Amino acid sequence: MNAQQNNAECATPEPTSTDPSGVYSYSTDENFFDDCEIVVFNIKFWGINHPNGIDYFPNRANDVLQGVANLNILYNKFGIYFKYRGYEAIDSPALPGDPDGYFVLQNAGQYGAMLNWAAANGYKDENAFNVYAFGWANGFGGIASYKSLICGVSSASLLTPILTHEIGHNLDLIHTNSAAENATRDPNNTCFNAITAGDRVVDTAANIGFNPTNTDSNCEYSGAEIDNCNTPYNILHEDIINTMGKRVNIPCGGNHYFSTGQGIRMRQAIDVGYYNAALTDVASLYEPYAGEYFYSSTQGSPANYVPLFQPGFDYKFVECSCDCPLPSDYNDTSFYYNTNAVLTISKYETDFSIITHPNHTAIFIDLISPCIANGQLTRRCYDNYNNKPAWGSVTRFNDGVLNSNITITPKDSLGINHPTLINELNPGLYKVEKNYLDGATDQDIIFKEN
Ligand SMILES: [Zn+2]
Repeated sequence: MNAQQNNAECATPEPTSTDPSGVYSYSTDENFFDDCEIVVFNIKFWGINHPNGIDYFPNRANDVLQGVANLNILYNKFGIYFKYRGYEAIDSPALPGDPDGYFVLQNAGQYGAMLNWAAANGYKDENAFNVYAFGWANGFGGIASYKSLICGVSSASLLTPILTHEIGHNLDLIHTNSAAENATRDPNNTCFNAITAGDRVVDTAANIGFNPTNTDSNCEYSGAEIDNCNTPYNILHEDIINTMGKRVNIPCGGNHYFSTGQGIRMRQAIDVGYYNAALTDVASLYEPYAGEYFYSSTQGSPANYVPLFQPGFDYKFVECSCDCPLPSDYNDTSFYYNTNAVLTISKYETDFSIITHPNHTAIFIDLISPCIANGQLTRRCYDNYNNKPAWGSVTRFNDGVLNSNITITPKDSLGINHPTLINELNPGLYKVEKNYLDGATDQDIIFKEN
């Protein structure tokens, strides 16, 4: 084992080709997003294990969920959404002369070999963004290719902006730092090259990288560097914390920021169709990534059925009614609902076990509201009464033994579900029978003492 350290550098090379003609407008107009177009992409995570079988990252399955949340929190404002499609840990082979295998990547070339190995062994989802969480890498923490569905991130960096950075590369964003890009933003200035040099985005400032000595503790630029036209750089706080700075975590770790121009560039890359294979629909966001819905009493206790929803969205689970023992179809909006939230989840929630779908509620997800057809963001009413008896009876054995001298008292739904049903029985021997809507029955013999 070597190189066991977190490295904030990105190994993605600068693009070697110019932008395809006609694809990018280089606009910085935030009204671009008024078209309300939403794209939802599948994303799948692969955890590369060390060949010795030791799990060096026991929290990785949880970290990838937080990673998806971080992606959505950053990208949703551009109408770009990510549907979590799971995490799978796979064992790296030990390579000849390299017992660490693909767990510790020696260089970008070995990353390419790892991708070939993964694809050849079925560890690739053709219909998703694929994130390969390797162990460590020699000199970098993340790597990606442009216009692609594949990136690699150090497992120790899944919670850092490196993940959001590499997906940005996939969506054809380039590092903001470049010695070639000039400071001027005036298209009539002969030095203007913001749409062809550097990141080819106009509302990110030209810069040659954010040397920690040129930034203060508030992530403000304090240097006096000049561009190739002897013009001082005009670097703002937003540039320092930009997700596409090459030294992702230095010096302002933990910050995430994309400019409007970067958002437009990503959306226009998406419009070309590079990522069509990974597209899914908004309805998928209303489906659990794990767990099952309780349907019928014949399955056992409802407590064993907990559908889980991915973190990173603001959810409200509001009261609804529709006689839907399984959630109604996403496209069926005929159910009744109100605004009483039984469960409210913030997109910053870190206890993922509580992001579930309570019975008798519908799911509201705070997507960019006007952009969903009819503006209806409340979908999928789950209104299951199979877990409560619909009716039943209490049979009293009048002689205190199990014989035919009995008195039967029928109970309706209220009666059989009444919390004091047993407490209020007089001393004696009883049979309590419960009948469920799904046909299941339940009988208990109860001896009530004096
Ligand atoms: Zn990068």
